[in-house]
Amino acid sequence: MRSIIQKDRDRCYLCGRPGTSFEPLDKHHVFFGSNRSLSEKFGLTVYLHHSECHIFGKNAVHSNAEICRKLQREVQAQAMQHYNWTAEDFIRIFGKNYL
Ligand SMILES: [Zn+2]
Ligand SMILES: [Zn+2]
Repeated sequence: MRSIIQKDRDRCYLCGRPGTSFEPLDKHHVFFGSNRSLSEKFGLTVYLHHSECHIFGKNAVHSNAEICRKLQREVQAQAMQHYNWTAEDFIRIFGKNYL
């Protein structure tokens, strides 16, 4: 499913800059691991610069736990609003509360 979080897929969700040939934008599943397919199903995905913002940078979601959790909090709140879920609904689906 298309991202419900990000309409403009030509810019990085974290830094706001466009992708480049050196730093293309990756689709990041905000709730990954065992919840990856649920993130896909509900459109809880964002676009991030492959190296700097997604995987390797010091502020990248997969290397900086604090930034990862901040994004998960934001996206859980947006998902609850979008789908009209309570926190309990979210926990029932994703098995965890990130708020
Ligand atoms: Zn970026
Ligand atoms: Zn990712």
